Amino acid sequence: MSFISVEKVNFSYPNCNTKALKDICLEIEKGELVLIIGPSGSGKSTLLSLLKHEISPTGKLSGQILIDEKKVDECKFYEIGYLFQNPNSQLVSDNVYHELIYSLKNINLNEDEINERLGEIVTYLNLNSILHSKVQNLSGGNKQIVNIASLLLMYPKVLILDEPTSQIDPIHYDEIMNLVLKLNKESNMTTIITEHRYDNIFYQVDKVVFINDSKVLLCDEPKKFVETVY
Ligand code: ADP
Ligand code: ADP
Repeated sequence: MSFISVEKVNFSYPNCNTKALKDICLEIEKGELVLIIGPSGSGKSTLLSLLKHEISPTGKLSGQILIDEKKVDECKFYEIGYLFQNPNSQLVSDNVYHELIYSLKNINLNEDEINERLGEIVTYLNLNSILHSKVQNLSGGNKQIVNIASLLLMYPKVLILDEPTSQIDPIHYDEIMNLVLKLNKESNMTTIITEHRYDNIFYQVDKVVFINDSKVLLCDEPKKFVETVY
């Protein structure tokens, strides 16, 4: 069985006659980097929210999503890291250090474990120079990097990124995309990303999923994907 298995998922938002997702089936293996593309309104964000089980509870859902053999609503919140488009929507603290510690305290680690994880991620992401900066003074790009750090500190099994650079200046676009690529290469963390500007990463992902009109039209490795389309 695949690491992530989306089986015949249909979803409609409350009071909405049209389905936001229709018969979605997807198989994603452990460690894969998956790029989801498709026009605005096609259902990408809805699919990502279902993978985190962050969706209107009154919506109509059928089908099943399994992650590492567990139903997605049975996964622990920290097992699935979810990065939002808006860099501000995830920030809760005054400075970067407190921001990073915040989520770690929520999972009842002892002080040694907290410091060990913190040291590791701060070094890995080169956060020392901004560790004591005020969060509100950071650029949008650095805010996203701090958000990614907070998620990584949870040691998630899956990292989901919903257009992580859509509200970021072009200079930080590369920085964030390179980080996503590096993380996926150097860890065994399964990564799922939607992104409008995907030119730089298209050929470096394992799978491209094309969603249109609420359906998966194509899912293949990038080279085969392009051969099928053209
Ligand atoms: P995206 O960039 O993924 O296309 P949108 O701009 O479509 O996102 O949506 C932004 C926010 O508005 C999301 O939180 C989404 O859930 C919400 N939203 C989108 N369409 C509707 C709708 N028809 N009714 C209510 N909320 C919506
Ligand atoms: P994408 O991420 O590809 O832009 P979405 O998943 O945001 O697409 O949207 C898929 C469909 O669901 C769209 O028709 C959108 O208007 C609708 N939609 C999204 N969020 C909401 C919401 N919160 N309430 C009602 N409809 C929504």
